[in-house]
Amino acid sequence: MSDANVFTEIRCENPAEHVLRIMLSREKQRNAQSKKMLYEIDRALNAAMHDEEVKVVIVGADGPHFSSGHDLRDSGKIGEFGDPVMGVGGYERGGQEGHMAQEQEIYLGFCWRWRNMPKPIIAQVHGKAIAGGLMLIWPFDLIIASEDAQFSDPVLAFGVNGHEYFVHAWEVGPRKAKEMLFTGDAISAQEGKELGMVNHVVPRDQLTEFTLEMAKKVARQPSMGLKLAKMAVNQSLDAQGMYNAIQSAFGLHHLGHANARLMNQGRAAPPDIDRIRREAKEQ
Ligand code: ZN
Repeated sequence: MSDANVFTEIRCENPAEHVLRIMLSREKQRNAQSKKMLYEIDRALNAAMHDEEVKVVIVGADGPHFSSGHDLRDSGKIGEFGDPVMGVGGYERGGQEGHMAQEQEIYLGFCWRWRNMPKPIIAQVHGKAIAGGLMLIWPFDLIIASEDAQFSDPVLAFGVNGHEYFVHAWEVGPRKAKEMLFTGDAISAQEGKELGMVNHVVPRDQLTEFTLEMAKKVARQPSMGLKLAKMAVNQSLDAQGMYNAIQSAFGLHHLGHANARLMNQGRAAPPDIDRIRREAKEQ
């Protein structure tokens, strides 16, 4: 890839023929997702889709945890790290308009765009994946997790229904979706496998190798077959109303954000946000 060396928040590697591996590399920030990181991921994925040498992509992470979610301290602006891709505009407008536009672009927009990319993408997950952390896992096609992986979305504490890519009921089933949202509790890798969310659970020291072997096996298939299989499965979810349900949940999400602003003197985060963050990390 021609721009592989310009990234600072991710690393791109070619561990095998036809396999691109994107590693989140904000280890010190527990891979909290800055806008810069999200644009780098989007750029790397987009380039991989246009690269004839790449047939499969792995998304993994450096450090002890996969991702602690969106970087809420990020002061970067949309447009600073590349052209916006979803054609929304109005990112700095007041009221709830600018906030919604931002999330339409870098959260829901990116997730839906990545979900529909034509080549298989495999999430390689270890440690904690919290809230927005799941948004770098659920849009992808296969999930390989190490035994220590934990998946949680504790953002109900912000007065919203869940994170912005609201596919919880599809990923873990409606009952478990409600439990994980109501309690904020994490789902273990093994539980995720039993629920059909995780494909394989492997020991931590075998995660990289196991995921790469899976990628190599997939890469041996013809690109047309891979593309059609991915589209066919995605379209079966679309036929169940997935897209409409996500859009509807996104509207509720912004009702929650707007309500929180009204209740918290203009801040989207509740006054006890530090305690909530601490509890999520300790889980
Ligand atoms: Zn939000």
